[in-house]
Amino acid sequence: MSASKTIFQKIADREISTTFVYEDDLCFVIRDISPQAPTHLLVVPKAPVPRLTESTEADTALLGHLLFTAGRIAREHGLDGGFRIVINNGKQAGETVPHLHLHLLAGREFGWPPG
Ligand code: 5GP
Repeated sequence: MSASKTIFQKIADREISTTFVYEDDLCFVIRDISPQAPTHLLVVPKAPVPRLTESTEADTALLGHLLFTAGRIAREHGLDGGFRIVINNGKQAGETVPHLHLHLLAGREFGWPPG
């Protein structure tokens, strides 16, 4: 059972200990283990939604909460000058962990179009 859990589900279920930047009933925020910017946070729902395209209408409030939390964390960390939110949906987009998460990246210039 536990073997099929993603790393984020194991963190949510306290099977793996980590340092939480933020946590509430619906989500948690952690630092990415392989940061791609000076600040690289992950906003992760506790519910095991695999990816955006597998969310349902019942997840609408949760999805809003994740975005709201990202904005709040950015503000509280003084990132108002600029940050980027990324969701990699599917292998072609670079998804490696099949448990929905928002990347919150800041602290350097970001190119457009994104790589
Ligand atoms: P994805 O590629 O699915 O969009 O993002 C998965 C992210 O999770 C990657 O940026 C990767 O570095 C991060 N990650 C993978 N395993 C761990 C872990 O055990 N702890 C933390 N904090 N981040 C992880």
